[in-house]
Amino acid sequence: MPDLRFQSEPPRHTDVPRPRRAEGQWSFGYTEPLNKNEQSKKDDDPLHVRDRIVHIYSKRGFDSIDPADLRGRFRWMGLYTQRKPGIDGGKTAVLEEEELDDRFFMMRVRSDGALLGAPQLHALGSISTDFARGTADISDRENIQYHWIEIENVPEIWERLDAVGMTSLEACGDSPRPFLGSPVAGVAADEIIDATPALQEIKRRYIGDPAFSNLPRKFKTSASGHPSHDAVPGINDVSFVGTVHPEHGPGFDLWVGGGLSVNPRFAEKLGVWIPLDEVPDAWAGVAGIFRDYGYRRLRSKARLKFLVADWGVAKFREVLENEYLGKKLVDCPSPEPTLRGADHVGVHPQKDGKFYIGAAPVVGRVNGEILTGLGDLVERYGAAGVRLTAHQKLVVIGVAEADVEAVVAGLGELGLETEPSNWRRLTMACTGIEFCKLAIVDTKDRARSLVAELEERIPDLDTPITINVNGCPNACARTQVADFGLKGQLVLDDHGNQVEGFQVHLGGSIGFEGEVADNFGRKLRAHKVTSVALGDYVTTVVRNYLVDRSSSA
Ligand code: SF4
Repeated sequence: MPDLRFQSEPPRHTDVPRPRRAEGQWSFGYTEPLNKNEQSKKDDDPLHVRDRIVHIYSKRGFDSIDPADLRGRFRWMGLYTQRKPGIDGGKTAVLEEEELDDRFFMMRVRSDGALLGAPQLHALGSISTDFARGTADISDRENIQYHWIEIENVPEIWERLDAVGMTSLEACGDSPRPFLGSPVAGVAADEIIDATPALQEIKRRYIGDPAFSNLPRKFKTSASGHPSHDAVPGINDVSFVGTVHPEHGPGFDLWVGGGLSVNPRFAEKLGVWIPLDEVPDAWAGVAGIFRDYGYRRLRSKARLKFLVADWGVAKFREVLENEYLGKKLVDCPSPEPTLRGADHVGVHPQKDGKFYIGAAPVVGRVNGEILTGLGDLVERYGAAGVRLTAHQKLVVIGVAEADVEAVVAGLGELGLETEPSNWRRLTMACTGIEFCKLAIVDTKDRARSLVAELEERIPDLDTPITINVNGCPNACARTQVADFGLKGQLVLDDHGNQVEGFQVHLGGSIGFEGEVADNFGRKLRAHKVTSVALGDYVTTVVRNYLVDRSSSA
């Protein structure tokens, strides 16, 4: 593909009708920046900010940072300023971004579904301890997120990451964000196909490639050959989903245009079969369509899902085949998830006679000591390493049968339970008001205390119930696809005061977590709860559900 960025002459696409109104699509010649984000990307490729961080900002300090870099291009390096402490959620919408900015950063480090061995875990742990005040969260995008990072320390952190083959590059920004892979890729006995080589090749070719560093907005990737759909393919911009063609064997279906946030849509399924070695080209084709045809006029309409919704599957496939791949794709029915347990918590046999062990921190929160301890555990028992999950959990891979008990005990000593309660296992929370500038309410701490309350009140539960706690409408912890999807907002308490609370979405699911795969929860307008009353609310709803279920059985 030619580099279509910033071209002065539009290419000819005679078979694609011009949209009714200008949406800022490069392929229709709309190359003039239509908003400040587009202007910033046109002014300078965001990838160039790395050099300025290493050679200028880290040496001269926070006050030397160009605001356009600070609140724009830094994101391509996985860096966001974190929220200034002490500003309540009522101020989120009324203050300017700079008034919310702290002088510290969140740094997101991508794992891209890779196995983290002892060197990686020790490096991640040391960065947390030395530069991030001990913080580290496992996000539902299989990242490690740090807080309290100072600009002066960023080059040293990158050196430590580089030394173990890790990076924060394009972990944020309008770029190919971190990939989701199967935590049990290559070892699960029931796996259809291992997507790891494809993910590695996409990363090698395209992360940091200027051809894909200016996308209309974020671009999320998932690739897994596990039948539980453990990399949540329904809610990514592009997903490669393991499937078996009756003649050709294992390969991947291609799903496009999924995403949550304020206009949630599940991905559309192309119903094709793509062999492993052609996945990187297909990825580049979909990313290329997004770059060239994606809407750039309004940020709120810039995700791929809006283009897919307007085009439909047939046109999307036609453009992909004709303009980007130069070949027709093979038809194949789209796969449905057929296994539960997408978080892989617990002890499970691998296909090679060893075991993998999934463990649950509470709402993904770990720290430097835990990461370092994990590295020690992997080293001591000769395990293959650890993978992060799309459910804020982790899985130790390649444990010999004789060591299973000791590794389970070692995980327990680190506070990582392998037989967690339903509440600990199936509750997730986004970053929330502690560090996020967009947040309206607290999430991590509230979710942790909620887990403790529910473990006390409803200790035994015979059916999985998921709770996703989000600090604002952006749905980073997947508001719409949990049994209890909680969207942070200010609500009125019994005395008419505005307090932290949640809009509730009920009965959603993703993959095969619930009774129905990929199902949006119901949002009832009046269904709001204060943060203080959340424990009572969930307890009442669950108890009523358990009684109704028994009486109607
Ligand atoms: Fe921040 Fe909102 Fe995302 Fe939570 S959902 S991390 S509050 S942007």
